[in-house]
Amino acid sequence: MLNIWGLKMSKEEATAENSTTKLPSHAKVVIIGGGVIGCSTAYHLAKLGWKEVVLLERAQLTAGTTWHAAGLVEAGGFFSATTVWMAKYTLELYSSLEGETGLSTGYKGVGTLTLATSPARVEELRRVAAFDRQFGVPMEEISPEKVKELWPLAYTDDILAGFLTAKDGRVNPIDVTMALAKGARLGGVQVFEETAVTGITTENRRVTGVVTDKGEIQAEYVVNCAGMWASGIGKMAGVNVPLQPTEHYYLITEPIEGINIELPVLVDLDKYAYYREETGGVLFGLFEPVSAPWALDGIPQDFTFGEIRPDWDRMMPYLEVAMQRIPALETAGIHKFFCGPESFTPDLEPMMGLAPELDNFYVAAGFNSLGILLGGGAGKVMAQWIVDGVPDVDITEIDIARMLPFQNTPKYLKDRAVEVLGFMFEEGYPNKHFKTARNVRKSAFHDRLSEAGAYFGTYAGWEYPDWFAPKGVEPKVEYSWGRQNWFEYSAAEHRATRENVAMLDYSVMGKILVQGRDAEKYLNRICANNVAVPVGRCVYTQWLNETGTIEADLTVTRLAEDQFLILSGDGTITAVQAWLKRHIPADAHVFVTNITSAYSVLNIQGPKSRDFLSRVTHADISNEAFPFLNMQEIDIGYALVKAIRITYMGELGWELYIPTEFSLHVFDTLVETGADVGLKLMGLQALDTLRLEKAYRDYGNDIDNTDSPLEVGLRYFVDFDKPGGFIGKDALLQRKEAGLKYRMVQFLLEDPEPLLYYGEIIYRDGKPVGYIMAGGYGHTLGASVGVGPIENEGETVTVDFVKSGSYEIDIAGVRFPAKASLRPMYDPKLEKVRC
Ligand SMILES: Cc1cc2nc3c(=O)[nH]c(=O)nc-3n(C[C@H](O)[C@H](O)[C@H](O)COP(=O)(O)OP(=O)(O)OC[C@H]3O[C@@H](n4cnc5c(N)ncnc54)[C@H](O)[C@@H]3O)c2cc1C
Repeated sequence: MLNIWGLKMSKEEATAENSTTKLPSHAKVVIIGGGVIGCSTAYHLAKLGWKEVVLLERAQLTAGTTWHAAGLVEAGGFFSATTVWMAKYTLELYSSLEGETGLSTGYKGVGTLTLATSPARVEELRRVAAFDRQFGVPMEEISPEKVKELWPLAYTDDILAGFLTAKDGRVNPIDVTMALAKGARLGGVQVFEETAVTGITTENRRVTGVVTDKGEIQAEYVVNCAGMWASGIGKMAGVNVPLQPTEHYYLITEPIEGINIELPVLVDLDKYAYYREETGGVLFGLFEPVSAPWALDGIPQDFTFGEIRPDWDRMMPYLEVAMQRIPALETAGIHKFFCGPESFTPDLEPMMGLAPELDNFYVAAGFNSLGILLGGGAGKVMAQWIVDGVPDVDITEIDIARMLPFQNTPKYLKDRAVEVLGFMFEEGYPNKHFKTARNVRKSAFHDRLSEAGAYFGTYAGWEYPDWFAPKGVEPKVEYSWGRQNWFEYSAAEHRATRENVAMLDYSVMGKILVQGRDAEKYLNRICANNVAVPVGRCVYTQWLNETGTIEADLTVTRLAEDQFLILSGDGTITAVQAWLKRHIPADAHVFVTNITSAYSVLNIQGPKSRDFLSRVTHADISNEAFPFLNMQEIDIGYALVKAIRITYMGELGWELYIPTEFSLHVFDTLVETGADVGLKLMGLQALDTLRLEKAYRDYGNDIDNTDSPLEVGLRYFVDFDKPGGFIGKDALLQRKEAGLKYRMVQFLLEDPEPLLYYGEIIYRDGKPVGYIMAGGYGHTLGASVGVGPIENEGETVTVDFVKSGSYEIDIAGVRFPAKASLRPMYDPKLEKVRC
């Protein structure tokens, strides 16, 4: 066969010394798939000292997607701590693997040069570069003149800035994978090629082994690293792995004068293209804005080292645009126009970790065209996760448990796949949403909200109201890094909540009923707070793992002696259910039911919410009769709804859980009466700015699985003294004893103009100490507000350390003074909430 590097490679050479012949009957770990991800996972398991690790590959190593990757490896340009970490680690590994294995990875640290041709792109890349530098990735801004110097054949007249990341560069993906496989074998891993997994055996919630065309292997753990086949492997085990193979292209030219191997990889996001040297010519790849899903009827059986016939007609316009950046491409001869399939996930994040459906089946798939450059880090994360049972990086973005079953329907995957490839290169404005596969998962109120001018965002497939346009204004976003066109609309919703009363469709909340004679006993062991409370009481709590870090952040309301209602974020519903199933013994008298669809939710908040609600209910909702953190059933019109007096916005308020069939009746009743008191409909943007002023935490945004409640200011919600303790208590006590290495702090800019979103670097007394995890505009506090953890060069972060510093926050290269506080800046004494 001819590989893309123009080298003749025989099937025997590709297989070379990596295969063993006798299939064992038992293994500790079976890894399915011999691409870069499977081999990296095997390599890292061996590094951690695990024996009896077996890797099964249906054809030959790299035969799926890995063999034809363009080999770009870069750590610069990512805006998520875990992704930057994985990419940086990968670079370090690939540049050192030869020393260990004797096999070169083809690593060339020529650097990556990313171009910005619009002011918005400059701002975006400045923010990203500052973030990446915080993680030790040297992404630096350079002038257009310097760009020209580094890439003389590039057209640079339209360039405003370049961003150069030294040490980024390129590898040969086949060589990388072979080196990882060799390293794995040196560590004792057995690699079997030409061995296809045809079935997976399970018992209760455990996988017991795999069936292959060469026999069965019993296994204690199975890891699904089968690339675009991972969805099918998932189905064998009853595990949801939604991904879609999609056409992915690059073109290689004949040699061009002036192109040499030392040129940095050039990335032109605005032309949806990247360029690098290849045997004296240019390899340029495309991330076209409208892409084509592939193999909708199933991947062909014999797809091994496979290629897809290029669709010249579809791609020609994109090729022409891409060629404008290097005019010499227009006259260069074409050596190869290559199209291969790559797996894309619905949200452009990989799917990694322990599958929620089983207790010992892991997945690492869906790498969205970044599998080589994340491969080293992804394998390390997977191995550590399997060995320790708990990941040591923030996995809230990449956790496979975020995926929902409907996202695996062929139509959803097909429709979303059109957009995801190009989304990667599009301008990364704040609050951007996918446009495809929309308008399907709607709350009962959707059409009413739409009539009222709602602009809808999407999360976990839900259409949720983000903000409301005033009458006569089209609800449409004009994206920018400054105040977007809806800023004042959302500000009005924010103010209505602080000063009067506002209503939010909150139906996206995940709702789980836990019932049975043993419900209290097991829930109380899972919750760090005490849920052995009187009926009607609502408890805010975290669920911790054995290391004391947070697995879930939610409320538990006691509905009856043997019945609890759990309310969690919309994206964590599957993970929460899996945690319950894993920690409640099968023979306990406890039943877990997802009742998200059974109730719609309206969240009514604001100082006038009592006045307003008393007009529509006969129930006594005075402070005495209906205290904070209580649930009661109240009447609204003809309906009975569960009202929980709680707030995530820092005001007096109630969440109404309405049986779905009564939704519109309740909504209409409330809106009709609301007209008399100035009730305002609000969206999730206002919810976010309100909660940031109050510094309420948001799991998956500002707190994650690597935090314990202590560092992030949630100590108050941990009951160390309750009988029976809770999961993670010992570890939490040890952390307490050791002192906190970081603390979550709330910041308020002194200048009312600049905007905080995410990732801005926090300086204390002139030194970087952390970054903003979530930011928004504090319309009541009068400036941008954000929360972020700060460190003290490895030492303990005391209250005094936080208070004694002087703070600035770097926004796209400019530092702005900020106030810092460990207590919420808005209503620290909870006077608004408890009145
Ligand atoms: C044109 C193109 C260019 C790219 N360029 C880059 C780039 O520059 N940088 C980058 O980071 N990424 C790039 N990528 C993406 C990258 O190639 C992939 O993300 C990566 O190779 C995925 O690796 P994997 O191990 O998950 O999948 P694969 O390489 O597909 O490995 C999965 C393996 O599982 C095996 N398998 C399947 N079913 C079974 C079974 N039943 N039993 C046993 N084995 C099975 C398959 O045969 C296959 O070998 C590119 C992709 C394309 C298409």
